[in-house]
Amino acid sequence: MHRFLNLDAINSRFQPALDQAALRVVHSGRYIGGPEVEAFERELAAATGVDHAVGVSNGLDAIRLIFRAWMDLGRLHPGDEVITSSNNYIAGILAATDCGLRPIFVEPDPATFNLDPTRIEAAITPRTRAIMPVHLYGRVSVLPDSLRERFLIVEDCAQAIGASLGGRRVGSLGHAGAFSFYPSKNIGALGDAGAVTTNDAALAQQIRALRNYGSLQTYVNRTRGLNCRLDPLQAAMLRVKLPFTDRENSLRRANAMAYDRLISNPNVIKPSIPDDPAEHVWHQYVVRIRAGRRDHFRDFLANHDVETAVHYPKPAHLQPCYAADYGHLRLPIAFTLCNQVVSLPIGPDTSETDVAQIAEIINRFSR
Ligand SMILES: *Cc1c(COP(=O)(O)O)cnc(C)c1O
Repeated sequence: MHRFLNLDAINSRFQPALDQAALRVVHSGRYIGGPEVEAFERELAAATGVDHAVGVSNGLDAIRLIFRAWMDLGRLHPGDEVITSSNNYIAGILAATDCGLRPIFVEPDPATFNLDPTRIEAAITPRTRAIMPVHLYGRVSVLPDSLRERFLIVEDCAQAIGASLGGRRVGSLGHAGAFSFYPSKNIGALGDAGAVTTNDAALAQQIRALRNYGSLQTYVNRTRGLNCRLDPLQAAMLRVKLPFTDRENSLRRANAMAYDRLISNPNVIKPSIPDDPAEHVWHQYVVRIRAGRRDHFRDFLANHDVETAVHYPKPAHLQPCYAADYGHLRLPIAFTLCNQVVSLPIGPDTSETDVAQIAEIINRFSR
């Protein structure tokens, strides 16, 4: 059986360090904030190459807190527009609308699955204030440098920890980066966890307040905050795994390269490979099957004991919660991709033999 995701197998590789770190927290008596969270924040900031990292409850909250903080700091206002794409996980879009911002959907480039940089200019209006590139499937979403001076750039790094562009890691490319450590991510916690990275001291400070009831000093609530703190137990788990980010990503990259070498079926479109391997950390290896044949392809693989997944079956703007506001939009590229994509097993627990067997089965698929 080729499992799509086996979290137990992935985390067993970090034993006994995870058990020891968990016990360290259990016996510390510090169960909210404290030294584990602070140490993790320092380690993540150093690994990302930024001045500040702020641990938060999850990836959605990381994005939500960035927007909230920019509003508190007067840099964003209700009704401001945020450019992003629709063939994504919905988190960043929920974060934007929760803050009263308006997502503007730009079509993705089918070669990278990311926001198509050539289509951004046409989507800019006098209300455009921010751009939210999602480094989808682990590939850096590359934007023209000039946009950085004109707009707030919030990177959704949930799928791309460790990926870099010209030697700079994601989370340091824009004005703020949002990370998720949901268990299935390249570096996953053993529960919910997230973080914000930035070089902006005022933004970091505001997010530190917002995540903790709007308070930096006990019983002084300077802003109308939330409770979005990072659990020290999860910080301790992440401190075990974070130093292995590059190793974990290389295992995924090797699997991706093997798929690329071994899959040769004209009915299966393979993902393109960036010239610089550092630009992709292969959170997912996503092939495309002609729409209408995808279920057939997935059934064929399932019958040969290969589990697959679809990221994501429906563009965000067509989800029921947005149908009234955005359901009328025509985004044929995002729509088509959502109907074609299939993710293959690629985790660090997937072996070279697994990949060879899966590729061999895929090569026997006929339309
Ligand atoms: C996982 C993910 C998130 C948010 O994750 P949480 O489950 O809230 O931690 C945000 N964006 C993308 C692209 C993701 O894959």
